[in-house]
Amino acid sequence: MHQLTLAEIARALADKQFSSAELTGSLLSRIEQLDPQLNSFITVTADQALEQAKAADARRAAGESGALLGAPIAHKDLFCTQGVLTSCGSKILTGFKAPYDATVVEKLKAAGTVTLGKLNMDEFAMGSANESSHYGPVKNPWDTSRVPGGSSGGSAAAVAARLLPAATGTDTGGSIRQPAALTNLTGIKPTYGRVSRWGMIAYASSLDQGGPLARTAEDCALLLGAMAGFDPKDSTSVDQPVDDYLAALTQPLAGLRIGLPKEYFGAGLDARIGENVMAVVEALKKLGATVRDISLPNMQHAIPAYYVIAPAEASSNLSRFDGVRFGYRCENPKDLQDLYKRSREEGFGAEVKRRIMVGTYALSAGYYDAYYLKAQKIRRLIKNDFVAAFKDVDVILGPTTPNLAWKLGEKNADPVSAYLEDIYTITANLAGIPGLSMPAGFVDGLPVGVQLLGNYFQEGRLLNVAHQYQQVSDWHKQAPSGF
Ligand code: GLN
Repeated sequence: MHQLTLAEIARALADKQFSSAELTGSLLSRIEQLDPQLNSFITVTADQALEQAKAADARRAAGESGALLGAPIAHKDLFCTQGVLTSCGSKILTGFKAPYDATVVEKLKAAGTVTLGKLNMDEFAMGSANESSHYGPVKNPWDTSRVPGGSSGGSAAAVAARLLPAATGTDTGGSIRQPAALTNLTGIKPTYGRVSRWGMIAYASSLDQGGPLARTAEDCALLLGAMAGFDPKDSTSVDQPVDDYLAALTQPLAGLRIGLPKEYFGAGLDARIGENVMAVVEALKKLGATVRDISLPNMQHAIPAYYVIAPAEASSNLSRFDGVRFGYRCENPKDLQDLYKRSREEGFGAEVKRRIMVGTYALSAGYYDAYYLKAQKIRRLIKNDFVAAFKDVDVILGPTTPNLAWKLGEKNADPVSAYLEDIYTITANLAGIPGLSMPAGFVDGLPVGVQLLGNYFQEGRLLNVAHQYQQVSDWHKQAPSGF
């Protein structure tokens, strides 16, 4: 059962091959048996999951249908879940049980999903390796001495290891697409504003978006259809109808115009990854796509701009964690200042502190124009590059990451070397456009991801291209040995 995709599970549940309670029970025992090798879960909500599964079975028995009714999933631990620990991977949220469900959680619950628990992540979603979690690093099931990517590394490792068919993640600079690439999954970051951020603990509010990680584009379409939509509780949520992503999957690719940005294939890219990506391009050409070279000239400025804007927003967002209102509080504070200081000093990890300092510096009166304002101007130039490119092409294609999954600990001494891993993904967040990563083969037994970027609200087109590729390839079906 654990090898089935969400779409296959939906058919099996409809055909009564097994019940959601049976499926849930079997996945819970897989998690218990195998997750100690991976550390992908922070909390397993076994009792609640079995109850939800029984309720879903009862709804089916009463004649209800729905592709996600009884489907097991889990949430990245930055989505608020009522009554269940929501830690954001941080010590500072020790013991924090959210008083409400995030909109994404609520919508997926309403669709009948069964929540198996909460997934490990980089602290406050800051990272590309899932090593900064207070709950310990997550291991990549393809090689447990390597990182699964981050920050949605728990989501990626759990789905790749077949502990569950799909999970939610969030992507501020690549955190859905990069771990999807390093673990052989399909994941999509929607257009900014497509998925509600209400109840999603904020890292960098103008960049954060929630989205699904799964094994196939079809499963991502199923989940995104349930997650997306206008939410009056999120003022940046866009009031526009949600496309029928499942219907979009079957569109033929004849006439699809693909752009290959020269900046995505230059220095810094592992040449073997480049070869796999070009093999995908050839396959898409056979399906009727045409290809042309394009340029995104401001891409070289994306990392410096992102690593000013994201920490600036984070430094403001994280000021709410003061030891008074949420989670962790230091012992025996002398006075209020001491309580703030020591709760934050003891509650936040090193990477989070680094970013709060960088962000506070960039926003300070004397430096605001030189850093923050400048970074926002670069952001506009990057957006304009995409707007210009999408006049001539429908989809932009390139590698998701410049390198394969690296060894645990390898980049810890040099944070900038980890920041450079985000080079191909962060532009989409800066511009607000959707991006998808899908499996594109293996190098030395490690997964390679190819990234598709689309114009605003073109999620359906990205899922369509990925689905059509997955009809003629079987990379996405490969499972890591031992799982
Ligand atoms: N690696 C990037 C960062 O550390 C992106 C993280 C994310 O998308 N949440 O900020």
